Amino acid sequence: MQKLSIYNTLSRRKEVFEPLNPPFAGMYVCGPTVYGDAHLGHARPAITFDVVFRYLKEMGYKVRYVRNITDVGHLENDADQGEDKIAKKARLEELEPMEIVQYFTDAYHREMDKLNILKPSIEPRASGHIPEQIEMVENILDKGMAYISNGSVYFDVEKYNASNNYGKLSGRVIEDLMSTTRELDGQNEKRNPVDFALWKKADASHIMRWKSKWSDGFPGWHLECSVMSTKYLGEQFDIHGGGMDLLFPHHECEIAQSKVANGKDSVKYWMHNNMITINGQKMGKSLGNFIRLEEMFAGSHPLLEKAYSPVTVRFFILQAHYRSPLDFSNEALQASEKGLTRLFAAMQTLEKIQASETSTFDVQKLKTDCYEALNDDFNTPILIAHLFDGVRAINQAATGDLKLNATDLQALKDLYKTLVLAILGLEIPQSETTGTGELLNEVVNLLLNLRVDAKVNKDFATSDKIRNELTKLGFEIKDKKDGFEWSLKS
Ligand code: ZN
Repeated sequence: MQKLSIYNTLSRRKEVFEPLNPPFAGMYVCGPTVYGDAHLGHARPAITFDVVFRYLKEMGYKVRYVRNITDVGHLENDADQGEDKIAKKARLEELEPMEIVQYFTDAYHREMDKLNILKPSIEPRASGHIPEQIEMVENILDKGMAYISNGSVYFDVEKYNASNNYGKLSGRVIEDLMSTTRELDGQNEKRNPVDFALWKKADASHIMRWKSKWSDGFPGWHLECSVMSTKYLGEQFDIHGGGMDLLFPHHECEIAQSKVANGKDSVKYWMHNNMITINGQKMGKSLGNFIRLEEMFAGSHPLLEKAYSPVTVRFFILQAHYRSPLDFSNEALQASEKGLTRLFAAMQTLEKIQASETSTFDVQKLKTDCYEALNDDFNTPILIAHLFDGVRAINQAATGDLKLNATDLQALKDLYKTLVLAILGLEIPQSETTGTGELLNEVVNLLLNLRVDAKVNKDFATSDKIRNELTKLGFEIKDKKDGFEWSLKS
């Protein structure tokens, strides 16, 4: 089997994955900032790196997957100014900040569970690593790459850039940054507008604060990822992931901090997932197209024609390559839903097929095609297309138009279980595996047939009772000349 290649954002090309310390593989992914509900934007990075995690494990690596929780110091637009969002919410709602953090962390976990996202190996919180962050600030100060200004500590980007390349990940040029960065009000404690905060002095209204020799304050947002990746994965590790929106400044700053603190480049492969748009528009609260995952699964957002199950959303996201943009629309989601139903139906059909003496289908070739797609930078849309080639074959085998011998039949079953369930993480809904869908049909038909009998016997009390009770449960019943018709209102 050929090797896994990963597109490295840093080198801008695909590279063969060779972990630093096999069979161990270390992966760090920037996790959620927990000051609001889990929304559609959270789903894509979570699913992207969940598949990476699952596939590396399937390949036999011992993977340590670290995904952090940002619960302090995430300032809007990296302005290094203004109030921490969590602190602000706590002040407005008179809650302990950690109450808010806990509430939204729990909610995030709940939605991730629904999407069948495996839990990371370690989920560290920024607030739980303040001493380590203070240590790294001291380290960077000792190396002369930071300066203290009015109780805050800033990273000296220009000085760093003299011997390093600040901007090598995002492709930004520091001279352009300096000339285009607006001199924001109150930013004059920085020597240069491109400098970023390592430690920020808290003003009087700031609730989340810790003691340090520079001031009572809090760490800059970028610092936590340098600190926690080093702590749990070492000074050098294999994969660092996150959304494309984090490329600059967040990951660029992380590279600079870690390089100065540890004296070497920490990350071997940088991976970035593309963003989600909704009906062609960027998602945003002000645009009215900000969809929470809870609303997605309940169909309760005005832009949604119906509810979409978590497995449908997961499948839809995996039908696009993680580096391609992805647009959510009702049409596209409904097409995914139909496709997924066909895939699951074929997997159930597969269990019922009887082996033939001979085979007229090349299962090994299908397997090779599928893994080639996965190994080509996790190309899940191509993988899914191959799985549908297999669906056609399965359906032909069920009607006897195609033959599978016992070995091939078993290989095909194993292939679908590994790829669909274990690697893509698509869970067949319980109702389909237990056959409760079919059972429900039979039970409702039984009741409605009893109702027909009751009417024939002029027992209208019973016939009305059956109709009324079923209606109450959400069934729609229509009487026909030759019997009845019913449906379940969704
Ligand atoms: Zn990060």
